[in-house]
Amino acid sequence: MEQLSQVFELPSSELKSFSPITGEVIGTYHNFTAPEVHSIVEKAHQAARVWAAMSFRARGKILKKWAAHILRNSDEFAAWVAKETGKPLSDAGLEVQIAASHITWAATHAQRYLISQRRASGILLFNLSTRVERVPMGVVGVIGPWNYPVFIPMGSIAYALAAGNAVVFKPSEFTPGVGHWLEKTFREVCTMEGLFSVITGAPETGKALTESSINKLSFTGSTRTAKKVAQACAERMIPVLLECGGKDPVLVAPDANLSKAAEETLWCAMANAGQSCIGAERVYVHESVADSFIAKISEMARALVPGRDYGPATMPAQLNVIQKHIDDAAKNGGTFMVGNTDSVKPPFVEPVILVDVPEESTSVTDETFGPVLIINRVKTMEEAITKANATRYGLGASVWSKRHGRAIASQLQCGMVAINAVFSFAAIASAPFGGYKDSGSGRIHGPEGLLEFTYARTVVKKRFNIPIGLTTFNRKPSTDRLIKRLMVLLHGRG
Ligand code: NAD
Repeated sequence: MEQLSQVFELPSSELKSFSPITGEVIGTYHNFTAPEVHSIVEKAHQAARVWAAMSFRARGKILKKWAAHILRNSDEFAAWVAKETGKPLSDAGLEVQIAASHITWAATHAQRYLISQRRASGILLFNLSTRVERVPMGVVGVIGPWNYPVFIPMGSIAYALAAGNAVVFKPSEFTPGVGHWLEKTFREVCTMEGLFSVITGAPETGKALTESSINKLSFTGSTRTAKKVAQACAERMIPVLLECGGKDPVLVAPDANLSKAAEETLWCAMANAGQSCIGAERVYVHESVADSFIAKISEMARALVPGRDYGPATMPAQLNVIQKHIDDAAKNGGTFMVGNTDSVKPPFVEPVILVDVPEESTSVTDETFGPVLIINRVKTMEEAITKANATRYGLGASVWSKRHGRAIASQLQCGMVAINAVFSFAAIASAPFGGYKDSGSGRIHGPEGLLEFTYARTVVKKRFNIPIGLTTFNRKPSTDRLIKRLMVLLHGRG
């Protein structure tokens, strides 16, 4: 250990968790060092071998027990989430319950989507049987953010475990208590050492995980960190799943239900203090209905009370970004409908709605992650689509139109889109969740989310020998002629 500590500069051994509302210390956790992370990953490899050898049914039983255990204690768990993030208790409770439903879905459906499949061997190789098996990766490292500290990492943890992997989870340094609680409850239903471990710590702990002997990494966080993580993993060809930031657009057509569009867009933009990767940050509304939409949403926004309807900024440094974006929008000629340049009142941010902000403003181009909404008028829905796509992000989107929802949605460059609804897709366990462009690659949730944590192994088996052997140096010219004729017969007429 002494020698190792010279190689890996050991940081402080403690990680403190703070209340984002009062700033007081609410917990002290271990700050896992690189050598400790490496040794935990080694233990996880041993557990992975035992877990992978178990049946889907046996694994599913344990995971369902975990989900039930979480649900029975959801009040206690939600209190932890609320304490560390500052979000209202009811939001925290909903997050815990949806996360538990993902565990149950993954446990119930893993066999159906990961069972080995028979494939046709083709006419030339009719004497072979072909199967494709889905093999667990081994040890999956999961690095999570703080904004939905249970729900988001659970989209990887539950699916990776259900697919037969061991998991080492690094929670955000802002929510170590939530990670600790997850590990504690898992151990209460499953005593298998090393199967699911939580390594609390600073970003260095996450870095150590990317440099360990994991077989796959699932990262959720900012695009900036995702690039570093992907680079570190590329060194050793570790496959990565990246769930990153967004700048989600909302498109409002002339035939939209404006009251509903305003009500749900406001929630999507301001719930969780705007700290949702799939939160609405930009609205493109048709000019024929713009005034009405802006009036409705502004009136509703003025009634919101920070500290009651949503919490503080969980990460204090984000307040600077929010302030800069508001200032930039104002400097570029945006008009305040709600709030002003003094709306950032640490640790809270009052609702801000700005209209007619130039598309070059950082408030339109970059992720704000606060209760700030930009609304711009468009002359046509084609213009709305072009502007919605003119960003480096491509996570979620929302379209409001009674008749043209699908047609508009089909032209958006994003991983998920809701029509006459907002970010409901996140709670649908059977549907894949993930981004495009700078918003990431790979998918959590649904069958795709299970497949992510396995690799395909093709197994062919010779059932009987045939006279026209292909895989031998004794292949005869008559065999070549036969194959050529057969191929022309089968495929040569197209
Ligand atoms: P972040 O990038 O600062 O940190 C995320 C995690 O990475 C933390 O656990 C952190 O300790 C760890 N980390 C930091 N540096 C690291 C390194 N060099 N190597 C390995 N790990 C490292 O992000 P955040 O502030 O915690 O989360 C907010 C961001 O996450 C926003 O951009 C948001 O949009 C995004 N997000 C995306 C999704 C999604 O599903 N697409 C969901 C939630 C949040």
